Amino acid sequence: MLLTAPRASINNFVCKRFIKVLALEYSCDDSCVAILSSTGDILFNKKTTSRHVSEAGGVIPIKAINHHQKSLPGLVKAALEQTNMKLGKDITMICATRGPGLAGSLCAGYQFSKGLAVAHDNMKFVGVHHMLGHLLMITMEFEDLLNRSFLSLLVSGGHTQLVLSHDALKHDILIDLKEKRAIGDSLDKCGRLLGFKGNMIAKEMEDFISKQNLPLDDPEYKKSLLKSKFPFKFPLSSPKNSKDMAFSFSGQITQLKHYLEREKLEVEHLSAKSKAELAFQIQYLHFFHIIKKIKQLFAARPELAQLPIVISGGVASNSFLREYFREEFISRIYVPKNKDLCTDNAVMIGWAGLKFFEKSRLLTTLESTTKNTWLLSDLLTVDGYEKDPSL
Ligand code: AMP
Ligand code: ZN
Repeated sequence: MLLTAPRASINNFVCKRFIKVLALEYSCDDSCVAILSSTGDILFNKKTTSRHVSEAGGVIPIKAINHHQKSLPGLVKAALEQTNMKLGKDITMICATRGPGLAGSLCAGYQFSKGLAVAHDNMKFVGVHHMLGHLLMITMEFEDLLNRSFLSLLVSGGHTQLVLSHDALKHDILIDLKEKRAIGDSLDKCGRLLGFKGNMIAKEMEDFISKQNLPLDDPEYKKSLLKSKFPFKFPLSSPKNSKDMAFSFSGQITQLKHYLEREKLEVEHLSAKSKAELAFQIQYLHFFHIIKKIKQLFAARPELAQLPIVISGGVASNSFLREYFREEFISRIYVPKNKDLCTDNAVMIGWAGLKFFEKSRLLTTLESTTKNTWLLSDLLTVDGYEKDPSL
């Protein structure tokens, strides 16, 4: 007698079979390429950062586009050479960021990625949501998270959101930004006012604080820094209900600017200790606000307080933020061990593309277009998907 397995389990087997993926990320100024396997082995992972960002103090869209045009082909070539792999033979899937991000950067990278896919027969192509990449990165270390609902705090240069994920495909945004400015951008601009330089100023600021060895373990010292000596006001008062909940980073830069002017402080003349203290207070101004908003949400919806919390995005690499969350919430806090996987990278795009495909069995068509604005809650409602014809 011929036994046939149920269709779902055949599909699961096909979707979960061992494959290798070429992944590309280019939604802002970094050009990133990775090769990874469906079992989570990272075989290649590199990024190039455009120098113009630290010189200009922000991203200039045309320079970012040019950077991707120059960098992506060389990175892909290096990835294939160093891993000794061939597209269409060893690598059977391309995952490329479809949005959200800067329109020009997305177009440059997405067209290049589609070109690679069209040139190879039977190449699977998945256009990936950038924030899904940040959100699912942690599941490479803790895949079990995908079997239950969890919260993600996405804190990056372009986003600040608290998301409730039911699985790899279904996400509700619980708290979003009130205005456009995200936490990473605000921290970077504040750091710049304090005289820090670089591409990731908030990171430079954190490194500087830790080098000064402030006695932050002394509760009296920490209290005086964050209470009596604290010169800033926290944004946004209590919302009327959980629907009005929002993060806001529109006033922190102005507050710091006014404070420096009012106190006639010239940052180049500040002692290293005073500069580190001020930088620490600025970090606290941002992080306290996030924690306060999440606590307000939990007060309105206590059932959420039991869920695990994942922190992802570039700002998630901040040690103080990680520690602060562990102190303030009873939930288990998850953060990627490798800090390089918090900031923009192509591994997260490849991994999210794989998880998306495993769960949905959907590929993205080669006629699909980029989405420079795209809510995670609309992951499946956009056009451009097709069932994998090989299933
Ligand atoms: P992303 O947009 O996810 O690539 O994240 C980039 C943002 O994360 C930039 O604003 C960085 O300054 C910020 N960032 C990176 N490392 C840290 C850190 N250690 N502490 C705070 N912010 C950071
Ligand atoms: Zn990002």
